[in-house]
Amino acid sequence: MYLYNSATHKKEEFKTHTPGRVEMYTCGPTVYHFAHIGNLRSYIMEDVLEKYLRFAGYDVNRVMNITDVGHLSSDADTGEDKMLKGAKRENKTVMDIAKFYTDAFFDDCRKLNIKTPDVVQPATGCIDEYIKIISKLVDTGYAYLAGGNVYFDSSKLERYYIFNDHDEDDLAVGVREGVEEDSNKRNKNDFVLWFTKSKFEDQALKWDSPWGVGYPGWHIECSGISMKYNGEYLDLHCGGVDNAFPHHTNEIAQSESYLGHPWCPQWFHVHHLNDPAGKMSKSKGEFLTVSLLEEKGYDPLAYRWFCLQSHYRKTLVFTWENLDNAAAAYTKLLNRVAALKPEGDVDQAVFGEYREKFLQQVGNDLNTSMAVTAVFDALKAKTNDATKLAVIGEFDKVLSMSLLEKAAALREKAAQAVQSGGGDYVITGEGDPEIDAKVLARYEAKKAKNFAEADRIRDELKRQGIEVTDVKGGAAWKRL
Ligand code: AMP
Ligand code: ZN
Repeated sequence: MYLYNSATHKKEEFKTHTPGRVEMYTCGPTVYHFAHIGNLRSYIMEDVLEKYLRFAGYDVNRVMNITDVGHLSSDADTGEDKMLKGAKRENKTVMDIAKFYTDAFFDDCRKLNIKTPDVVQPATGCIDEYIKIISKLVDTGYAYLAGGNVYFDSSKLERYYIFNDHDEDDLAVGVREGVEEDSNKRNKNDFVLWFTKSKFEDQALKWDSPWGVGYPGWHIECSGISMKYNGEYLDLHCGGVDNAFPHHTNEIAQSESYLGHPWCPQWFHVHHLNDPAGKMSKSKGEFLTVSLLEEKGYDPLAYRWFCLQSHYRKTLVFTWENLDNAAAAYTKLLNRVAALKPEGDVDQAVFGEYREKFLQQVGNDLNTSMAVTAVFDALKAKTNDATKLAVIGEFDKVLSMSLLEKAAALREKAAQAVQSGGGDYVITGEGDPEIDAKVLARYEAKKAKNFAEADRIRDELKRQGIEVTDVKGGAAWKRL
């Protein structure tokens, strides 16, 4: 596979420390609120990447943290603690908030067919790891104590900026984010490893440490959790593009200073989903969540389809119209898959050829829009339906659009409607489930006010020599 590496600014051949094995780490959510669909864009694309690597034959160990402590409202360790903010907002404990929003996050993931990583570790469960790393950093002079906190000393590094070539002043935290400077810091890029004294007297979660009772900074959790479960050599680190600086930059600084050798060579950053007004937000305007999509009648997988249509390294703009288009395209695709007859033998040569092409095309920097095209190409292939279904099922191991399951359900629904004669919508015809599925799909499209799709299906049936007549409570069809 070839993958763009934000650390080198180049598309490179994907390599791993141990051949055939990928140690993969993903920055998980801060569980103080629901995830918005922008956050979930990152997790969808990372899920496709993981599934592609497995599809390509790698054994993947994917680790993700859950941030339940230490993340302040500015990524540069100033402002209010996000978890405390959530707890105050809802008049609950930090622990309750963490549990509630962790569960909500995985519910959303399930609805979007995002696989749960092999290891999911809340940050509060690895305090000993952070203390071990910070102690060594203090002993070796990479970290210092000031004002009761422990800071990483960025001036000890030959190279601090990894992901950008900006001049230091451009990225100086105070300037960049318009937040107050922490006067304890010796250098502006220093960051907190451990808080003891801070302005958060009501900080709910605290632990004993060699530097006093306190809590870890945000950045140290990802280094500690990754080293615990991925080992000293990480192959691939993922996150949204906003994580590159300062979060990932700081992860590299502390990990490599601790380990004394390079830590993670490949960095995968997903660009943002924005709304037309700009940055997606959890506080301003309409808070776009998976539940909101469902309330408005969308299948969450239509949103996944929308994400797959564009490249992860391009900013994506969300509008309801764009989502409508993706939803209509997804319905149309399911109807076409449902109309395939699951009979006959799979042509292994054709199957292998399509699989190989998919592997090459999608392996070019996770080209998911090519993967979408590949599904349509498979539908048009000069081969039997059984082979098409096998190919589409194979591609769906990476895409995870439930194509075969949903198509089978459509077919089943059509067959039942005919047999029972008692459903909402009764189809009477000549006993062909494929035609029943299309007639039902036309009805579903009409119900969803997608008249263009309904007309397209009627025309397709006409070309097959089928005439459909709407009757009371259903439809009747016959071959002309
Ligand atoms: P958080 O819960 O804020 O820690 O963010 C969870 C993940 O979502 C991180 O990997 C962020 O980089 C990513 N993220 C935040 N905003 C967006 C967005 N608008 N589009 C895509 N990813 C985002
Ligand atoms: Zn992280």
